[in-house]
Order: sequence, then structure tokens, then C-alpha cells
Amino acid sequence: MSREHCDTHCIEPRPASPYPRVARRPDARRSSVRVNAIEIGTDAFVVIAGPCAVEDRTQIHTTARAVAGAGAHALRGGAYKPRTSPYSFQGLGEAGLELLAEAGREVGLPVVTEVLTPEDIPIVAHYADVLQVGARNMQNFALLKALGQINKPVVLKRGPAATIEEFLLGAEYIVDAGNPNVILCERGIRTFETATRNTLDLNAVAVLKERTHLPVIVDPSHGTGRSTLVAPLAKAAAAAGADGVMVEVHPAPEHALSDGKQSLTPRAFQAVMDALACCVPVQGRCLTGGGNAQYARRTDVEIDGWRQRIDTLDTALVRLLIERARVAQELGRCKLSAGLPIHNAEREADVLSRVGAMAAGPLSAEALAHIFAAVIQATRESEEQTLCVRAS
Ligand code: PEP
Ligand code: MN
Repeated sequence: MSREHCDTHCIEPRPASPYPRVARRPDARRSSVRVNAIEIGTDAFVVIAGPCAVEDRTQIHTTARAVAGAGAHALRGGAYKPRTSPYSFQGLGEAGLELLAEAGREVGLPVVTEVLTPEDIPIVAHYADVLQVGARNMQNFALLKALGQINKPVVLKRGPAATIEEFLLGAEYIVDAGNPNVILCERGIRTFETATRNTLDLNAVAVLKERTHLPVIVDPSHGTGRSTLVAPLAKAAAAAGADGVMVEVHPAPEHALSDGKQSLTPRAFQAVMDALACCVPVQGRCLTGGGNAQYARRTDVEIDGWRQRIDTLDTALVRLLIERARVAQELGRCKLSAGLPIHNAEREADVLSRVGAMAAGPLSAEALAHIFAAVIQATRESEEQTLCVRAS
């Protein structure tokens, strides 16, 4: 029907999305990208870690063991480096790819590395599990089209001056050319701010989740340019709904040939993993499933590390339980003022079956129901004391 003939019931035709292949689906179903044993874009939060550039065998192997020992899911490292100055270290080229692949094999992690030109794709794809398009190449359309013709996953980094729409159109090029395995990476944009190397745009995570079905990860290393800012921004990325983070790690950042200021030492990387271990589950995701226990710290040190993680998780759990008890008290007050009974056996049974249905990993539905029965009992006792009511 032509527009002239439209009566009031006629619905305006929806403008076609400028990026139909990557646009969020009507049913909001998200896509995930499989990389060997890991899948990016699921409930499992993914950590990709490694040096900015592969520098030599010792450096990449030491880093690989450290990140695998700390639980990373993939190893990164550049062999072809897009440097702002032609006089800066440009990467080891194919020798770097070989070392990266060898280190990844040794620790059992897939490897992610940057490709700069369409001509380099065959050699990079030969060694890498995931090909990275750097920020400076986000609109290198010849490269994007050529990456659409391979079947390996691609991490597409956002250009430092690219809008979200331009970012998504970059991804559309790759998917439209035939490769659906694209992971978007927010890595900071250039703003008037000079206190940090870039401004990490965490708005982008939430906006991208509204607009696309593709997985979204965040790079707080390039996003801030400073190692001390990586942990808080990695946590913020997880809280904003990112599917993972990519961070730079170097055994001796002060001697790194590129991006030393933003590179974490292995110890600082462990602290980032510990911090994430605490906030990722609160977002309904898990952080486990990566790493290689063989490279975890020496047993005594390792036991200490796991205990620290348990202590951090216990702290978070206690805070949540206190908040839950406070909320339950407010609910109790509300019911009292409405003249309703404080306790409702049916509702308690619902709570137990709801948490039981969330059972996953090592905790069975019965175990969860048992724990929550105790939580409910403790809450009830505190309500009785505070609100001076007796349970019926
Ligand atoms: C990198 O990941 O080392 C890199 C060069 O990143 P970007 O393209 O985001 O600057
Ligand atoms: Mn870098």
C-alpha cells in the first residue's frame, strides 16, 4: 500500500537497520563465539591476557605460564605491531607468531594476535586462534572484507575516534563477507581528557548490548594507559555487562618494548583475577574454566592464593547476606503496617525452589536449598527481635 493510501491503522515501515547482520535480534538472542574449548558471549566471563608484543621466547613463555597459572582463558601477544611512530618496535613478525603459538600450546591456551594487512592474514591465521583488528584498522575495509573470508574468530577493536555506529558497521563488513565470528572490543576513545591515555567508554558496553547480538569485551589496558587503573576498570567492565576483558601482562613492565606503563606484572594480574572472581559471580556469570593448574603458583603459595579468594568471596557473601536481611526487615515493616502476617510459608517455599533451580557447578539444588533454609531461618530470628513479633 502506498503512503497516500495509509489510514490511521497503517504502521510506518520500520527503517531497515544500517547493520542488519549484527543488529540485536528481535528475540534478543545473543551470539557466542567458540575459540577451542572456550566460548565468548555466554555466562562464562573470559579473560584474555598477555604482553602487548611478543619480544623473545623467555618473555612470552614466562607470561604464558603466569597468566595460565592465574586462570586466564586465552593468551594475547602482538607480532605485527601498529606503532604510532615508525621508529618504535614493530614486532617480531613471523618469528613472534611462532613463539606465541608455541607458548600457547605449552600452557594449553588459545592465542590472540593482531593482523595489520590482508596479505598477512594467511600467515597470522596459520598460527593464531583469534585474529585481532587493531583500533587503527577498524575502518580498513579491505582488511575487514578479507577477514570475512576466513573461518577463524576476529576481535574487532573500536577505533579511537569511531562512533558506535561506525564500530558496528565495521563488524557488519566482516559478517557480511561471510565470517559471523566477531567479538567487539571497547578499548577507549580519544577525548579532551589527558589524565589517562584514552577515555574507556563503558557506555559502549551497555549501548552495544542494546544494539547488537555480538559478544562485547573491554580492554582496560589501552583504555586507561596505566596499570593501576586496570583492576577498577576491569571490574567496572564486568559490572557493565561485558563478556570479558583483554589485559596486557609483562614479566617486567619497566623493560617492555611497548606499552610498559599499562602492563600488569604477573602478581598484579593475579590481583585482577582475584578482584574479578568476586564481582563476576554477582553479575550472574562465572570466571572459572580457564587457566592451567600445572602453572599455578607453587603448592603452598597456591593454597594461600585460593584461601585469599575464598576470603574475598566470603566478604562479598557476608555483605550480601547483611543487605538481604535489611531488605527482609523493610519487607517485614511493610507487611506489619499493611496488617499482613510477617511470615508466609508459601513464599518461603517459592524462594527455596527458585534458588534450587539455579543450581550449577558443584552446588546441587539440595545443597542450595539447605543453605537458603538457614538464611531464611536467620532472617526470621532477626526480624522477630527487631520488629518484636513472634513467628506464627
Ligand atoms: C594492542 O592490543 O596491543 C593494540 C595495539 O591495541 P589498539 O589497537 O587498541 O591500540
Ligand atoms: Mn598494546
